[in-house]
Amino acid sequence: MPAKYDLVLKRGIIIDPEREIELVGNVGVNNGVIEYLGNNDVTGFKELDCTDLIISPGFIDLHSHGQDPENYAIQVSDGVTSALELEYGTDDVEAWYSSRKGKACVNYGVSVGHIPVRTTIMDDPGGEITRTSELKGEIIRLPIADGANKPASKLEIKRINEMIENGLKNGAVAVGMGIAYTPGASWWEILEVFKIAAKYDAVCHVHMRGWGPNTPNDAVEG
Ligand SMILES: [Zn+2]
Repeated sequence: MPAKYDLVLKRGIIIDPEREIELVGNVGVNNGVIEYLGNNDVTGFKELDCTDLIISPGFIDLHSHGQDPENYAIQVSDGVTSALELEYGTDDVEAWYSSRKGKACVNYGVSVGHIPVRTTIMDDPGGEITRTSELKGEIIRLPIADGANKPASKLEIKRINEMIENGLKNGAVAVGMGIAYTPGASWWEILEVFKIAAKYDAVCHVHMRGWGPNTPNDAVEG
């Protein structure tokens, strides 16, 4: 144990779920690496009093729709270091990532989303634009016309599938679905999306369906 650390976080409530640690203690950091964690009274060139504050690994938010600089800053103050938009996602993964590169104060990631993909393919104007920003993908544009309600033709399903596959090839970390918002999507259309996700070993984040012309009879259909 070195005599003095670059930085010591003092008297914080240390929580490390992975190692099942919860104690009030001190953390010693050297060269940006945690070298000490425990009850010993260690000293640092710089010391921060963390009384009544929690010291823990950064939180990962899997369902983060606020994908803009203001929301990122607020999330950091809540302890979130990774903000992931996995439900709604985006139809243009490349643009989503490139518009954030070098500008975000958190780790970020996105799914390729069946909702925005279907909205684009079905030429739906979209509604409920929450706000505008320079960052593409921040806007939650829910379908309000054919993107929501019209059953897709064979050709449209093919185009939806191609766009989702393209998103996975371009770095989407998952497949997002909000089938509650696309009641016109048939069970077959939805199954096809799951099949593409399976092909790429991608997880699916689904806002379940509870209404519409294809109301579910059980949890699997929903
Ligand atoms: Zn959501």
